[in-house]
Formats: sequence, C-alpha cells, structure tokens
Amino acid sequence: MINSIRGFNDILPPETYIWQHIEKEAREIFETYGFSEIRVPLVERTGLFSRSIGETTDIVEKEMYTFLDKGGESITLRPEGTAPVVRAYIEHKLYASDPVAKLYYLGPMFRYERPQKGRFRQFYQIGAEAFGIDDPMIDAETLEMLVSLFQRLKLEGVTLNINSLGCKECRPLYKEKLINFLKDKKPSLCQDCQRRFEINPLRALDCKSKTCIELTSLAPSLLDSICEGCKTHFEKVKEHLSLYKIDFHLNPRMVRGLDYYVRTTFEITAEGLGSQNAVAAGGRYDGLVKDIGGPDVPGFGFAIGMERLVMLVKGQRQEAEGMGQGLVFMAMLGEKAEKAAIPLMKTLRSNGIRLERDYGSKSIRSQMRRADKLGAKIVLILGDDELASHSITVKDMESGEQEKVPFEKVEEKIRALLTERQKVMSKQ
Ligand code: ATP
Ligand code: MG
Repeated sequence: MINSIRGFNDILPPETYIWQHIEKEAREIFETYGFSEIRVPLVERTGLFSRSIGETTDIVEKEMYTFLDKGGESITLRPEGTAPVVRAYIEHKLYASDPVAKLYYLGPMFRYERPQKGRFRQFYQIGAEAFGIDDPMIDAETLEMLVSLFQRLKLEGVTLNINSLGCKECRPLYKEKLINFLKDKKPSLCQDCQRRFEINPLRALDCKSKTCIELTSLAPSLLDSICEGCKTHFEKVKEHLSLYKIDFHLNPRMVRGLDYYVRTTFEITAEGLGSQNAVAAGGRYDGLVKDIGGPDVPGFGFAIGMERLVMLVKGQRQEAEGMGQGLVFMAMLGEKAEKAAIPLMKTLRSNGIRLERDYGSKSIRSQMRRADKLGAKIVLILGDDELASHSITVKDMESGEQEKVPFEKVEEKIRALLTERQKVMSKQ
C-alpha cells in the first residue's frame, strides 16, 4: 500500500459538497463586485517568490517546495497566489488599456510546514486581487466583499483585525526607531527575531514568543509613526468600513509575514479553529507590480484558507445535507423493469435530477436499504404491477407516503416533492 504524502490530503465526499458550496458562493459574490476568475500555473520560477515575498519571510526561508527540473532550472510550487497573479498581469499586459483589473482565483498552494490542525503542506486558497486603484475605498470595498461571503456562509465569531504598515517612505523611519528601541534587548529576543533583527525587526511585534511579547510591549507604535499620506489613507479605510457597517478591531501590532504589504493590512480570525485561527488575510501591495518588472500599479488583495473555512462551515451549518441532497433512487425489480426504466432514467438525469440506482438485480429490500444508506429523498419503484399499468410508484422517504404515478408524470411529481422538502427545510 502506498500512502499519501504527509501534509497532502484527500478531500472526500460528502465534504466535497461543502467545498463546492463555498466555491460557488465565492464565485457568485466576487463576480457581483466586478472580479473575474484567473487561472495561473501551480509552478513558477523560484525567483518570482523569493523576490516578491521577501528573503527573510517564513515562506521563503523555510517553506518553499523548490526543485530543480530536468533542465536544471529552479522551480517552485506556488506557496501563495498573489505573486503568480501579478506575474500574469504583467506578462499579458493586462494594464495596457486600463490599469484596473479585478481578478480572483481558487486552487492549491504548497508550503513545507509542520502539518497540524488547520495547517497542511498542500492547502487551498480562494483569493482576489484588485490592481490599479489607489483609492482607499477599494480596500474597504474588497473587505466588505470578503465579509459578505462570510455572512452568506453564516459564519459566527469572526473578527476583522486591521492595521497600517506605512509605506516605502515612512516604514524605514519606523524600522530605525524600532531597532533603536530593541537594540539592547536583542540578545533576549527569540532566535527567529534575532536572526531577522536588522532586515525585518517588525516581525518581533507579532512574534508569538512570550519574551518577545514582553520585550516589545513598550515599543514605539507603528500607527503613530506613519506619514500623513498613510494616515489619511487609513482613516478613509476605517471610515468606509464603518459606512459599510463592518466591525473591525484595530491591531497596531499585526505585521503580516509577507514583505510586499504596505499601508492597509488585515487578518480575519475565527473562534473554534484552535491556534491556527486566521481564516483570511491580505492587504495593500503598492510597489509589488513594479518590483516584479511591471508598471507602477497599486494593488490590494486577500487570500482565504479553504481548509479552515470548511472547518467553520462544517461546524456552523445546520443543513449539512451532503450527498443525499435531492437524491432520487430508482429501484427496479427484474430484468424487464431494468430495461423499461432506461429511457426514464435518461430523461430524468438529462433534466438535472440526481438519480442513483443499484446494480446486479438485487431484491427490492436490498435496494431500499441502499436508497436509505445514500440518503435518497425519493425512491421510484418499478416492478411487475407498475410495468403492467405503465406507471411508477413514487415513495417520499421522509413521510413514507407513496403513490402510483404514470410514467409521463413522474418528473413533475419528483419536482413537487423536492420543492416541498426545500420549503420545509428553509422554514426550519
Ligand atoms: P499563518 O499565520 O496561519 O501561518 P500565513 O500568514 O502564513 O498564515 P497567508 O500567507 O496570509 O497565511 O495565507 C492566507 C490564509 O491561508 C491564512 O490565513 C490561512 O487561513 C491559510 N493558510 C496559510 N498557510 C496554510 C497552511 N499551511 N495550511 C492551511 N492553510 C493555510
Ligand atoms: Mg504561515
């Protein structure tokens, strides 16, 4: 037996129905905000990530799946979606006629991390990127889009944390301030924070280590140190979030683990996920498009962690119907019935009705057991009696009621029963 690789998961039915449900809602909502889907490769040149995400980030330092391909080129399984989407935006000159492009993606990402609850080596993200808009209104609106998705999915206990990281002008000044403040404390910081002290001291602000938390507790505040332009931008983001009636928590210590963020950054955390409690994160990345070789076009985006979102939806939704949803089961007694049912099954299926059957000419009892096991809502029974009268017995598995219906009326009857059930369900 060859097992799957550690950190690489199979996603099985019925859970795949939850995935599909989330993906469908996300596509629908993103489209209503003017975003279109982009599909980018799973593999890119290594330099794309090391250059954009930052050499001292966790991702580039230790989490990348990097290989030499047979031609000797260093390639990497994408650890995140922003850099590939930016690359595609530049490569296909999507900015040529209009710098504004709103794109979303869904698919797997790869990071060599220690697998644990909510953390895998292949995991899925749904993400969105808005290019070409400086206006802080897009920050707020994109956040609102994300929050609406979570509302549509009926998530509870989620918190939006926001911060501003300043820009290329004011962050270096803050960085210096922070280095000065931490200089004599450096030997007591954790190994990671010591190592990235000169290049990326801000990471010490949201380091999880107890001593780092203590040592940085009186550090100068980033939000007090950002420039006027960044302050105005951030004020407008907050104002618009309030206009959208979105609650947020200001977290001046939140520093994202990717170097390309400037100004607005955020993270959405949720209760019930354990210590990996961030379900989505993102921010503004003005400068990234230029750094990767494109024009100076600003950007704002986010990524949702699918596995964590699925965990929340699984824990919070009542109508976890899964595989049985709307399922009709065709029970046939004898070879003659099996043949007679074929045109009907074909019609029902081509009209979009989910229909399952059994194979091997089993007894009616055994077929009913299987229908039950699959969670079928309706069973159609075709035996000698029915054949003689050119009809089918339609059984509602919930109420147990059954009725003989002429062949031509079967579909109508099924639809009536299914909508009735749906009405009952939505009332609950
Ligand atoms: P974390 O703090 O959990 O390490 P991150 O800052 O590395 O997250 P991002 O790169 O911002 O995460 O990715 C956005 C989202 O993708 C995260 O909020 C999380 O929900 C999800 N995610 C990130 N890494 C993993 C992983 N290894 N397995 C599952 N989901 C992940
Ligand atoms: Mg991480």
